[in-house]
Amino acid sequence: MFVNHVPDNKIKYLRRRILTWGKQNYADFPWRYTTNQWHALVAELMLQRTKAEQVLPAYLSFCNTYQSPRDYISSSPSPFISLGLHWRSDTFKKLADILARQKIPLDKSQLLQLPGIGDYIASAFLSLHAGIRAPIIDSNIVRLYGRFFGFPTDGETRRKSWFIELTGRITPKRSFKDFNYAVIDLTRMVCKPKPLCSQCILAKKCSNV
Ligand code: SF4
Repeated sequence: MFVNHVPDNKIKYLRRRILTWGKQNYADFPWRYTTNQWHALVAELMLQRTKAEQVLPAYLSFCNTYQSPRDYISSSPSPFISLGLHWRSDTFKKLADILARQKIPLDKSQLLQLPGIGDYIASAFLSLHAGIRAPIIDSNIVRLYGRFFGFPTDGETRRKSWFIELTGRITPKRSFKDFNYAVIDLTRMVCKPKPLCSQCILAKKCSNV
């Protein structure tokens, strides 16, 4: 299996370089600082398949209007209308209905029971907003690791047990929040669909170069 052939020193190099790069290139989005977990969960929902720059005005407007799930369900407009994401508003209403009656669970299996919460959002919420280590996987991260380690990827790679295991090996035990933000930023700014390899801190050991 591929994961058994990935040397520890290449994983350590990747982890160290991404953490160092992340400190110098941290993207200053407001949801990264919020202490309101409702707003944090909303941000992760808004960010799913939507660019951060596009989410920013909707997120700020949402936070000013809805301090809690109760605020949201007692009003009619959907914050997603302005994002052009009408398909998400029904799910979001169901989520707010539940969270008006209970706290956001800090357990991944319980989070996954909530409407609209998939594996990525659950892991992002836990690791980025709740101080609980959880490796994150999305299509951008699959692309980065596939290029760097030199394995082919497709739409199913993110669900493969070997890939989940590899991501678990890469994600640091302690600085997982910093690492996860850094890897999100690196895939957005450098290892994009059209990669900027000449500017990349991983180029020296990247299998794609
Ligand atoms: S060197 Fe290029 S392909 Fe490799 S990780 Fe960096 S940007 Fe991606």
